[in-house]
Amino acid sequence: MSIIDFHTHPIFFEEGAEPAETRRQLRRARSLGITRMVALGDVLRYGRLPDAEQTRILNDDVAKVVRRSKRFYVGFCGLNPLLGEAEVWREVERCFETVGGFHGLKLEISCNARDAAMKPVMEAAARYEVPVLQHSWSQTNIRERAFHSDPEDTCELARRWPEVKVVMAHLTGCGVRGIRAARGLENLYIDTSGAAPEAGLVECAVDELGAHRVLYGSDLPIRDLPTAMGRITGASISAAAKRRILHDNAVNLLPPAV
Ligand SMILES: [Zn+2]
Repeated sequence: MSIIDFHTHPIFFEEGAEPAETRRQLRRARSLGITRMVALGDVLRYGRLPDAEQTRILNDDVAKVVRRSKRFYVGFCGLNPLLGEAEVWREVERCFETVGGFHGLKLEISCNARDAAMKPVMEAAARYEVPVLQHSWSQTNIRERAFHSDPEDTCELARRWPEVKVVMAHLTGCGVRGIRAARGLENLYIDTSGAAPEAGLVECAVDELGAHRVLYGSDLPIRDLPTAMGRITGASISAAAKRRILHDNAVNLLPPAV
């Protein structure tokens, strides 16, 4: 089966930037049956609040990786919404209209998903008809909620913008709490990246939300591919559900590989 990984960081704290490293990554992923990857940026290289110039550097790095294999990688444009509406639009237009190779927006921990600063981000996603991947985690440190999105925050974002497809990152991090919060939100997907696999969670997500709303993701290189894939292949769900999670759902959110 051909597999699509919806959550990877081909360059992570500057590692992976060399063409030879990309070739190695591609060879290994392909040997495991992966045919496409969503390439996210080196999101925390400059901390949680990259300025405009740093944001451009991170997105140019994504574009560099995508250019090495346009059939394999799809880039997501990383944004710091707190830079303001004009800057958000400037960077989105630059990535989508000038640089190329992008088909999604990625939000990390610059602001909470409920923040008013998310408005231009979501308007841009609607305009370009691309999904928004929001870092999410069930937090225990409540003081960080101002900039860290809990599952309910990401679900609220999807609720406010029903015409935009929102991907809530990190199934293990969001847990059963995240799955429950996501019930009934048909424009919200959960990716399975982040942390070690936890028995029963993928099954719970499929039971509560349906296999059509779960996307395989690894968080490469933070998580190793066979571990991340085993979370799906080893789950007690039907073969059809596995195929949806590992491949079909991502196809519906990404442009055709050319
Ligand atoms: Zn990630």
